[in-house]
Amino acid sequence: EPVVGVLALQGAFAAHQERLVALGVSAPLVRTAEQLAAVDALVIPGGESTTMSHLLTTNHLFDDLKGRIADGLPVFGTCAGMILCAAEVLDGRPDQRSFGRIDITVRRNGYGRQLASFETDLDVDSLADPFHAVFIRAPFVERVGPECEILAEHEGVPVLVRHETCTVASFHPELTPDGRLHEMFIRSIGSPLHE
Ligand code: GLN
Repeated sequence: EPVVGVLALQGAFAAHQERLVALGVSAPLVRTAEQLAAVDALVIPGGESTTMSHLLTTNHLFDDLKGRIADGLPVFGTCAGMILCAAEVLDGRPDQRSFGRIDITVRRNGYGRQLASFETDLDVDSLADPFHAVFIRAPFVERVGPECEILAEHEGVPVLVRHETCTVASFHPELTPDGRLHEMFIRSIGSPLHE
């Protein structure tokens, strides 16, 4: 079974760890370069991408993580984590950095004030039943590169996108007890879970 770390500098990391542990996966929290070196895959949680970018830099993790991602570390980025994985970020802070792992353009807080937070049921590729999705000041996906697979859309806007072993969601799949997207991520990295 893969060791799926959860980046734990800031944000909704504890709920991700719970989902992974419920699937029988080892899910250590990652705050240091040593902890990062011990994982086979990484979840980058929701929170505030500006803060996470800053903490990644001040904790001397940004370059290590960028290197591991460039070497093929599978990543599941949710909400702020999607922003950190994106090739292009609009309405970001000037000093905010991303890993550029997946060829999408996202607009921070792009759903606007009216729709700052909402919940909806999504039809997700290869899932038999809808997934209840919680959006909180979510990034709005404005462009998806041709190599990416769009796994779910909300009102015509991609909200779950995958390229190879990188999956990104503009919502918070860890805030509901439904572990199917975590399971899908683990399967996508070539590690079938024990039934
Ligand atoms: N608005 C946040 C950001 O820009 C993301 C929100 C979230 O992760 N729930 O980083």
